[in-house]
Amino acid sequence: MSSKQELSDLVVQVRRDIVRMVHDVNSGHPGGSLGCTEFLVALYNEVMELKDGFDMDGIGEDLFFLSNGHISPVFYSVLARKGYFPVKELATFRKIDSRLQGHPTTHEGLPGIRIASGSLGQGMSVAIGAAEAKKLNKDSHLVFTLHGDGELQEGQNWEAIMYAGAKGVDNLISTVDYNGQQIDGSTDEVMNMGSLRDKFEAFGWEVLEVEEGNNLEAIISGLQLAKTNSGKGKPVCLLLHTSMGHGVDFMAGTHEWHGKAPNDEQLASALEQNPETLGDY
Ligand SMILES: [Mg+2]
Repeated sequence: MSSKQELSDLVVQVRRDIVRMVHDVNSGHPGGSLGCTEFLVALYNEVMELKDGFDMDGIGEDLFFLSNGHISPVFYSVLARKGYFPVKELATFRKIDSRLQGHPTTHEGLPGIRIASGSLGQGMSVAIGAAEAKKLNKDSHLVFTLHGDGELQEGQNWEAIMYAGAKGVDNLISTVDYNGQQIDGSTDEVMNMGSLRDKFEAFGWEVLEVEEGNNLEAIISGLQLAKTNSGKGKPVCLLLHTSMGHGVDFMAGTHEWHGKAPNDEQLASALEQNPETLGDY
């Protein structure tokens, strides 16, 4: 367990990593990364039960699958700062021969990465397989996933959601980054999905919501409640109300920074808003 201050410091440092990585190669997705920083910091440092080291099988520990893989900057930073690989390797993000490609893939053998996640929409299907394998292996650990709300417009998700509800995959906790934004605009404008709560419930899921999706304590409470609700016959969906670009004022609350890198001046402003805490890579 970490102290509140340690977690807050980690959040700020991860935000610095995100904007520096994306700026360095003038490429990548800062908006969703910044909006999910508190979630991934909380998940990896406060919520999941993890073994030391990394193996692909993941038996005897909780698993996480990132389905919206374009937010790789936050995922790579959280994994590196958790000790899965050297923090200095963040400097290779999106470069030739790097293990840190734009979308995570297993091909590079980066510790912490168990699936490729581009194209979008496939993470829950993989997670369900892993969750059912855990049941077959009598492994009581949980499987967590993260999905973009825009990503839920991909059809394969709904087959997976239907399956998990119908088959009672109750060791699965799927979180939705519910920021109301996607790369081309608001999710309501691009393709309105109506009530995600109603949809997941109609497919047989237990649905929980965290209204303050960028508040560490609220996220930890929400995830702990999700764990409490697991094992009761239904998969659990956690709707996390976040702000895309959170933590950098000119990036927050808009789709404009979904897949755009800051220039030198914008980077300086973003870093000024997030002073170095644990040391830059
Ligand atoms: Mg979104």
